[in-house]
Amino acid sequence: MGGLADQLRRTIAHHGPITVAAYMETVLAHPRHGVYASRDPFGAEGDFITAPEISQMFGELIGLWCAVVWRAMGGPDPVALVELGPGRGTLIADALRAARGQAPFLGAARLHLVETSRRLRDRQREALAATDLAHPPAWHDTLDDVPDDAMLVVANEFFDALPVRQFQQTPQGWRERLIDIDPDGGFGFTLAPSAAAQALVPASLGSSPPGSVFEVSPSAIAIAHALGRRLARRGGAALIIDYGHTDSAAGDTLQAVRRHRFHDALDAPGTADVTAHVDFAALGRAAGEGGAAVHGPVPQGVFLESLGIGARATALRAGATPEQAREVAAARRRLVDPAEMGTLFKVMAVTAPAAPPPPGFA
Ligand code: SAH
Repeated sequence: MGGLADQLRRTIAHHGPITVAAYMETVLAHPRHGVYASRDPFGAEGDFITAPEISQMFGELIGLWCAVVWRAMGGPDPVALVELGPGRGTLIADALRAARGQAPFLGAARLHLVETSRRLRDRQREALAATDLAHPPAWHDTLDDVPDDAMLVVANEFFDALPVRQFQQTPQGWRERLIDIDPDGGFGFTLAPSAAAQALVPASLGSSPPGSVFEVSPSAIAIAHALGRRLARRGGAALIIDYGHTDSAAGDTLQAVRRHRFHDALDAPGTADVTAHVDFAALGRAAGEGGAAVHGPVPQGVFLESLGIGARATALRAGATPEQAREVAAARRRLVDPAEMGTLFKVMAVTAPAAPPPPGFA
């Protein structure tokens, strides 16, 4: 752990306070000490648990969603099946298994996994070993490297891991929140005048009270814009699932989670996953400016119910032991209940402009 804190301290000592985005980027993606490079943050033993790790139903329903959307697109061959940030590869493995009955879709699909962590790429390769793909999967560091074909894109808890910049309102106007070294040697926030604030904080938030924080993820916006441009030009659809807010509003959502507990985001960097809530309005605007149509966001619970998670749970319970049946029911509740993941998590689709609303967005 000393490694990452020392590295950050040296950077700040030499260059001055760093943006929250630069901090997040280092903590998450540092090739040796970063969270995704140095540990497996998923699952009951890790820091947090994601929907595909809760239940196979999640990836299965998304696999069927992809097959249905592909047919509605006229069945393009090839179609790039893209996952952004596949984690352990559970979602895509469940999706491909559920799509087994859809041979033409699987025959057309070229799987492209966008993943920066070498360690997680290995996990993904293992997860896919049992799937019978007609074409071998390819890994890429960024969406830019994925061939420019018609695409079906899935991104679950990907955008929340992208770095955000934070701005804070003061009596003198918006300032950028930077991270500096405290007198005690730890990390703390400081405010600095910022030319970017003018461009990045919406004018509608001009009268927010002092202390208000506004977050922007330039990399999330750039990726949403690129998705919008590609989908408008080549056709296809993207499914973005994450926790976040429907409107661009003020709020400090930077959070760190270690072993399922919240943790100070500036304490012991590299030992906890650091994320921020997703601003769906900002992603939707960027995709729309790229030329695509935006559907939703809808609450995850509503989305999964309309895709038939109830029927899938019933089918799984039919052949199960009483213990397994209880687990299936509990997993469904966890994914759809408004008090659990059902409302905080939202689902947005981005499609070619003339495409009909995809399943779940009618
Ligand atoms: N979708 C998975 C994992 C979510 S965690 C699930 O639902 O379980 C975020 C994932 O995005 C990890 O696989 C992480 O390594 C990857 N990731 C984070 N930032 C990235 C970036 N800038 N480019 C590509 N992958 C990234």
